[in-house]
Amino acid sequence: MKPVVITVAITGSVPRKKDNPALPVTVSEQIESTHEAFEAGASLVHIHVRNPDESSSSDPKLFEQVQEGIRKHCPGMIVQFSTGGRGRDQAARGSSLYLKPDMASLSTGSTNFPTIVYENAPALVEDLATKMKENDVLPEIEVFDLSHLHGAKRLVEAGLMNDRPHVQFVMGVKNAMPAEQRLLDILLNELKVVLPNATWTGAGIGRYQSEVMEWVLSREADAVRTGLEDNIRITKDRLAASNAELVRIAAETVTKHGRRVATAAEAREALGLRAAA
Ligand code: ZN
Repeated sequence: MKPVVITVAITGSVPRKKDNPALPVTVSEQIESTHEAFEAGASLVHIHVRNPDESSSSDPKLFEQVQEGIRKHCPGMIVQFSTGGRGRDQAARGSSLYLKPDMASLSTGSTNFPTIVYENAPALVEDLATKMKENDVLPEIEVFDLSHLHGAKRLVEAGLMNDRPHVQFVMGVKNAMPAEQRLLDILLNELKVVLPNATWTGAGIGRYQSEVMEWVLSREADAVRTGLEDNIRITKDRLAASNAELVRIAAETVTKHGRRVATAAEAREALGLRAAA
């Protein structure tokens, strides 16, 4: 069986440090939290950065510092920048791609979120995909709706992306796709038709994190995703102590499914990335 890549989404963009003090917000907190998660088995880190007031930021300097720290302290770990929209100026969402992270998230369509429209107009999607291509950044396609798979396919047809992106089905966001196994099966069947060479995973948001992880592992996913961006609790009554605690739980779940946690080198190979310098 192929080893499983554990992705840790350390911070996210929702201003909620007060909801869980373990959420890393400053550059040094983010590097330290990633390092702990790396030692616990994470091989891919998904990064949002924050302004000093903890609001979401697009400042390339912050992305650069976090990337530098991670490359120094977590040898070979895959660095993925978020180009997600919440709380960020649309035009600045791709402004850090020139720093050549290994990967970046790419939403290929719009969707409703709990209180806002998460807007990804076709021109913005094409612009982000173009910048990723120019900088040799592997896209992780964020699928909040079935039409987003077809949005990704159009990028391949337009020559803006190769036919082997990493695809993540995001389930359990209020007003978007519910976390239901039958929907995962529909999406997965469609993926096999539309982008048969893609690697894939699923992310369950909030209380759906562990459930979705079980579902994707039983369907031989290439990766699982955890981290405080998606879920800040271990149980209804207990907050997660750290990203590393969530990664340890993910690693146990991987083992329970008879699979093995991928090393950073194996994760790079699985996703078709170059070995680390
Ligand atoms: Zn994110």
